[in-house]
Amino acid sequence: MPAMSRLERTELRQPDGRRVTLYGPHQPAPPGYQAPLAQPGIYERRWNPLRREWVLVAAARQGRTFLPVRSRCPLCPSTGEHSTEIPARAFQLAVFENRFPSLRADGDRSGRPEAVASAGVCEVVVYTPEHEGSLATLAPERVADLAEVWADRYRVLAARPDVRYVFIFENRGEAVGVTLHHPHGQVYGYPFLPPHAAAELRAGSGTGCPICAQLDRERRAAIRVLFRASAAVAYVPSFARWPYEVHVVTPAHLPCLLDLSRSARRSFALALQRVVRAYDRLFKTTMPYMMVLHQRPTDGRAHPRAHLHAEFYPLLRDRARLKYLAGSESGAGVFINDTLAEETAARLRTLMA
Ligand SMILES: [Zn+2]
Ligand SMILES: [Zn+2]
Ligand SMILES: [Zn+2]
Repeated sequence: MPAMSRLERTELRQPDGRRVTLYGPHQPAPPGYQAPLAQPGIYERRWNPLRREWVLVAAARQGRTFLPVRSRCPLCPSTGEHSTEIPARAFQLAVFENRFPSLRADGDRSGRPEAVASAGVCEVVVYTPEHEGSLATLAPERVADLAEVWADRYRVLAARPDVRYVFIFENRGEAVGVTLHHPHGQVYGYPFLPPHAAAELRAGSGTGCPICAQLDRERRAAIRVLFRASAAVAYVPSFARWPYEVHVVTPAHLPCLLDLSRSARRSFALALQRVVRAYDRLFKTTMPYMMVLHQRPTDGRAHPRAHLHAEFYPLLRDRARLKYLAGSESGAGVFINDTLAEETAARLRTLMA
């Protein structure tokens, strides 16, 4: 992929078989480096015939590192005293196969008849060697590099026969269950089309794209649009389920990150950063959120309606007040939003730098 040439790429393999990819220049692991080892466990998926959806079983995740002190952070560069997940004394961005995955191609199985062997992959994307900070504080060049890494992971995982959907996302904040503070995101390579992606691809009529249609509605209404950049439009969708939910959409109908030019990927990623910065200003605290990218499935089918976009689900509905997925949301699938999208958009717009 010629567009990646600026960011050099080094592939390494840990003794337990997990892949590590370093992007940009790096320095090798210190002498005496001891790679952490993946734990055995039961990995499979089980079909829920009532909801017609898969449940991932990953019954080895209990030993996960939980909010370690900085000197024990597994995402920092390795030192002579502390071996981390990254076998390098220095690096720029790094991707490694999660030691506590939700999906893996070679896990043990319970052997139960209702279970299917797991497949796919879970990766961690380390945004920076710096322990402090977040997507909001990364330098613009680093944000642009992150977009290149995302595009490269999409390309690499899409080529795997067991990956039918590449899901790039970030969970941020302890309220979302994040167990590590070091700035990072994740990539799941699902062996099936996840329900939310499938629902979006079913929406729209004929070959019409539902994202293009919503973008058109938001542009005409104008009141919920936060900003426009060369390769991104950000808005609070009229149907926001979460207070302060924001969608970032490419103005052109493009299925995935690989269909954008390098400068368009940069513009798109910087738009995501602008949203996070506004979130952090909103309640003058680090906003816990989930950010997800929806792109074209990688199952070999055409999917003409697929349209790259990001969705942000922030968890705070007010200062120190969390939005919970309670009875109606969890049991009926019906979200209750106690804010008006037009008002949250107006408030976020004043916080956009
Ligand atoms: Zn760290
Ligand atoms: Zn579209
Ligand atoms: Zn979506």
